[in-house]
Amino acid sequence: MHEVSICEGILGVIEDQARTLGFTAVRRITLEIGAFSGVEQAALRFGFDAVMRGSVAEGALLEIIDLPGRARCYDCEDVVDIMDRLACCPRCGGERLLPEGGGEMRIKDMEVV
Ligand SMILES: [Zn+2]
Repeated sequence: MHEVSICEGILGVIEDQARTLGFTAVRRITLEIGAFSGVEQAALRFGFDAVMRGSVAEGALLEIIDLPGRARCYDCEDVVDIMDRLACCPRCGGERLLPEGGGEMRIKDMEVV
């Protein structure tokens, strides 16, 4: 499952940081997830609890911030925010949009002890 490997990646980052910064527990972790990342949030939450069990992040609260996708419109040549890859341009209604961002996922913030 894709989301489990994402969680394992997150755990790797957390464990590196725990070694570097010397914290022993994570209370809260905030992720930013782009609208085009293809990440299933329910599956991510489910995988998160399972993957973090037994680690410094066991029981950590997972917060997810949805980032809109960005796309350039061929019709009005504006760069617009859209929440769906198939959306029309919110400015001119054009259907020819070139996605430019929104596929990212990153750890924004961590509250540690
Ligand atoms: Zn447009």
